[in-house]
Amino acid sequence: MTNPFSLEGRRALVTGANTGIGQAIAVGLAAAGAEVLCAGRRASDETVAMVRDAGGRADSVLVDFADPMAGQGLFDGQGIDILINNAGIIRRNDAVEFTEEDWDAVIDVNLKALFFTTQAFAKAVLAQGGQGAVVNIASLLSFQGGVRVPSYTAAKHGVAGLTKLLANEWAAKGINVNAVAPGYIVTNNTEALRADPARSQAILDRIPAGRWGEASDIAGAAVYLCTPAARYVHGAILNVDGGWLAR
Ligand code: NAP
Repeated sequence: MTNPFSLEGRRALVTGANTGIGQAIAVGLAAAGAEVLCAGRRASDETVAMVRDAGGRADSVLVDFADPMAGQGLFDGQGIDILINNAGIIRRNDAVEFTEEDWDAVIDVNLKALFFTTQAFAKAVLAQGGQGAVVNIASLLSFQGGVRVPSYTAAKHGVAGLTKLLANEWAAKGINVNAVAPGYIVTNNTEALRADPARSQAILDRIPAGRWGEASDIAGAAVYLCTPAARYVHGAILNVDGGWLAR
């Protein structure tokens, strides 16, 4: 019997896989049978070791998405058929003080690099005549405004829009494009929020699940969207937020 949730024989590239949500997704993809290439600005030694220790297959490649075109050529001849666009940064400041540098840095990594890396991926998948899956890591700030993070909110709204546009263009060509929108997850990204007791408590009070999320909470949704079980899912943004948006 064929398991529709298996990724045996598939090859995945995860951006920003050395820590946090990307690391958890890389481990989850490998557990489902995929061979995983961890792409980051630092070597993903810890992630590679976690996968290999569990009997899976993983390697690391250095790519700095501060250059939005850094993903060009990354997929050529690699047989990669899954792309997880996870790498992201956040800059916090009041909107009236927000600098062009903080605007450009976040838009370049979180939005522009995501688009051009996905374009490079799709060119390679279409050239090899195969099927592919893209999962973008969106955010609650793909739907809500947030505070003091204007470039992050603009980028994550853009990620939601691009997920739908790319799904429209590629659904009939065999590439599934979807997104996962994590809620408040304990990673480096949310360190400043968790260091502020009042803010941290206010966030916790609104989460129906009664706890912040762990990076591993996100992996299952991302893995699912890459499997044959999700073959008719296109342009979806799956909230994994402990119920935050339902509130
Ligand atoms: P994280 O621990 O800070 O992970 C971000 C990852 O992106 C790291 O691997 C980081 O590498 C990598 N990265 C950043 N800039 C890069 C660059 N120029 N080139 C290559 N890689 C780069 O935070 P996280 O929470 O796991 O974030 C992962 C994704 O989830 C992001 O897109 C974030 O916006 C999204 N997200 C997070 C939350 C949350 O609550 N944590 C909620 C919604 C969405 P370094 O380790 O070298 O910095």
